[in-house]
Amino acid sequence: MNIPFNIPYTSDRELIYIQEAIAAGHLSGNGMFTKKCQRVFEKQYGFKKTLLTTSCTNALDMSALLFDIKPGDEIIIPSYTFVSTALAFARQGAKIVFIDSRSDHPGINENEIEKLITSKTKVIVPVHYAGVACDMNKIMEIANKHNLFVVEDAAHAIDSFYKGKSLGSIGHLGCFSFHETKNIQCGEGGMLAINDERFIERAEIIWEKGTNRAQFFRGETDRYQWMDIGSSFLPSDINAAFLYAQLENLDLIQKKRKRIWEQYYEGLKPLEKEKLITLPLIPEYATNNTNMFYFVCRNKKERDNLLIWLKDNGILAVFHYLSLHKSPYYKNKHDGRDLPNSDIFSDCLVRLPLYYELTLKQQLNIIDLILNYYK
Ligand SMILES: *Cc1c(COP(=O)(O)O)cnc(C)c1O
Repeated sequence: MNIPFNIPYTSDRELIYIQEAIAAGHLSGNGMFTKKCQRVFEKQYGFKKTLLTTSCTNALDMSALLFDIKPGDEIIIPSYTFVSTALAFARQGAKIVFIDSRSDHPGINENEIEKLITSKTKVIVPVHYAGVACDMNKIMEIANKHNLFVVEDAAHAIDSFYKGKSLGSIGHLGCFSFHETKNIQCGEGGMLAINDERFIERAEIIWEKGTNRAQFFRGETDRYQWMDIGSSFLPSDINAAFLYAQLENLDLIQKKRKRIWEQYYEGLKPLEKEKLITLPLIPEYATNNTNMFYFVCRNKKERDNLLIWLKDNGILAVFHYLSLHKSPYYKNKHDGRDLPNSDIFSDCLVRLPLYYELTLKQQLNIIDLILNYYK
């Protein structure tokens, strides 16, 4: 048996919509399918305004520009996250103040935030790991009290909720990924959700190379020109056409992923009962969009050997983030605080294959192998 970690989902409509985009004769950014996708996202999830981007990394780049991040600013970011969460802010010369994860969940420990706030702090970046919400009420309360911005790294979190509010719609900004490893995808893609109206006009300008091109095409101005900083953050309408097909199949995808996730959870429960592994926690305020199935081993050696055992049996399970405060790029810039929970997740977390085409038979085989490893 050979089971890869991921197979990107595709329906039978991506090519049809790409052909429609070609027929429409507008293949650059902000075309028909870009607008269609943005409208659906805004309507379905209550974002004030969305802009498709070429990646979540790019949406985070736009956030750092919109917040006018400058050298010396401090940004609170979890150590247990993907590099992209920190990249845009580091490039602006900001100091990354890494925060630890909760002990029971890889999301940031909201009780640690206030201790890290100084007069230089500008932004908090919660990451909704595995699509499971951080405690957003608490985080927004702290941000409002100290006059800080919040950008949600919602890369994993499409179609997931916190107390009924969609993730990415709660902070001033939210950033999504449509990379092929996410629930819906277009190879490489992303989206900026703008929830604070003050940022909408400038976001559109930064998105289109610092010009007011979007306003021009809506007839709101008689010429378009250089207005501000920016870059080329908008994807081709070909990517948007692909994404639109995925968006139409979101419910189908989610239903299947949910079934797979629950099957893993049930199948591995006996190991948790014996305290051999820890299964994922979904706090009562959060939904589970099943972006990922992970569990946590007792130590690194047991985790590493499990990954080898699965690989020897044809199954590609993987570990995840390495603590950013220990990364080659940032370890000498980090202020030296230990972040033990981040390190535990780096050392002990396992992610299992979870994709639309995974069959029940394959899944039962994976579960059996894990149960046998612990026998
Ligand atoms: C995937 C991911 C990103 C980056 O997304 P891209 O679309 O590949 O740029 C950012 N943050 C987190 C937490 C991610 O998992």
